[in-house]
Amino acid sequence: METNEKIENFQKLGIKEGLLRSLIDLGFEKPTEIQEKTIPLIIQGKDIIGGAATGSGKTLAFGAGIIEKCNAEKYVQALVLVPTRELAEQVTKELRKFSKYKNLGITAVYGGVSINPQFEAIQEADVVVGTPGRILDHLERGSLKLKNLKLLVLDETDRMLDMGFIEDVERIVAACSKFRQTLLFSATIPPEIARLAKEYMTGPIEVNAEIQVDPKKLKQAYYDVPDGLKFSLLVHLLKHEHPGLIMVFCNTQSNTDFVVRNLQNNGIDAKAIHGGLSQDKRNKTMNLFHSKAVSVLVCTDVAARGLDIKGVSHVYNYDVPNELNNYVHRIGRTARAGADGIAITILASRDYDQFSRLLRTLEVDIEKIELPEVERVRIITQERRGFGRGSRDFAGRDSRGGRFGRDSRNSRPNRGGRRMSSGNSRDSRRALRARRHINHGGYGMR
Ligand code: AMP
Repeated sequence: METNEKIENFQKLGIKEGLLRSLIDLGFEKPTEIQEKTIPLIIQGKDIIGGAATGSGKTLAFGAGIIEKCNAEKYVQALVLVPTRELAEQVTKELRKFSKYKNLGITAVYGGVSINPQFEAIQEADVVVGTPGRILDHLERGSLKLKNLKLLVLDETDRMLDMGFIEDVERIVAACSKFRQTLLFSATIPPEIARLAKEYMTGPIEVNAEIQVDPKKLKQAYYDVPDGLKFSLLVHLLKHEHPGLIMVFCNTQSNTDFVVRNLQNNGIDAKAIHGGLSQDKRNKTMNLFHSKAVSVLVCTDVAARGLDIKGVSHVYNYDVPNELNNYVHRIGRTARAGADGIAITILASRDYDQFSRLLRTLEVDIEKIELPEVERVRIITQERRGFGRGSRDFAGRDSRGGRFGRDSRNSRPNRGGRRMSSGNSRDSRRALRARRHINHGGYGMR
């Protein structure tokens, strides 16, 4: 495509010189759906509710508003609230690329790291990207002032609410200038978000767009594995397939630790990322993964939410996600930017019910893959040993019927395995912990 045509594609949305040049430098050719639908409205100053998940190109959508409206004047004119520290880093880096020719001061502000350097960075900043807890901390200390804010962005709002940040978010919004423009992005718009929008936005326009993952390039599949062989199958797949970067999703921090520890014990160079690890460690791990120095990342949903990592060829669900949202989010880590990808769920009997529920709401085919010969590997567990629940297999108990094959093998006892909880109780514990963090002034991101 000719450069002129590319320029025109973005110019007609109202994007001007500096940002246009950055987009051409980045190799962008045409706007994504969410950009096409929202950028003209954002530039006109409208409040927007963007129904868009990560991968839709929403960072540029709100970024265009920020870059067109803010100037390098060293007072905070735009605030972007995000649920996780990783996302704060990612959005900051992306916005810096977009503002290359405008030289805005853009800084990330989140907990888990020293607050002192942030005081100075905020003094120099035109744009702050941060997680609710630490932003509130700065507001309370007086080191961040939002009285002259032009633009407030709530990114991944549903996730911020899931994580128990609603009160923090509302307190932050209340501290912002009343004359600001508000942009709210969220993969889903539950009633609580509709209420937020009604209370804090002015005549918001709702716009929806699809994820930019190409469904034709994304294959979804599952293995039905006898109890006790689940981890061994994961090791087998990681050792025998030769893909690019791999993400393995678990539902809890303890499972993430279990999987990563045992992968390492089995000679696989894997790293973990979850909310229980120090921020320094999480940043280092993300850098290793981004640079492909480590190719297997084992993570929880929260830690990986919204991350845009180039070259993820395989996503494994070691635990079946508790919600459809999380499933969609996980598989959206692969098949990005025109590349092929595969999302594989590894089922044992404990996962059948959850997986059946997911399938009922999904509109796609998930293919069953026949089990390869799997060698049982050694597992070191610090938890109590459990036993498999007999000889169930996944028979695709899905209301539409007939789509999933029946596997006639019997399950084996879970000799090397752990006792698995449903994940729900841990989830509610996590929510409780998130609340406690808020109540006690700590802002650990989970
Ligand atoms: P996001 O949903 O904002 O995380 O964006 C997902 C990825 O798409 C990021 O790597 C962006 O740099 C990239 N991206 C955003 N907009 C475009 C575009 N118009 N053309 C090509 N890539 C884009």
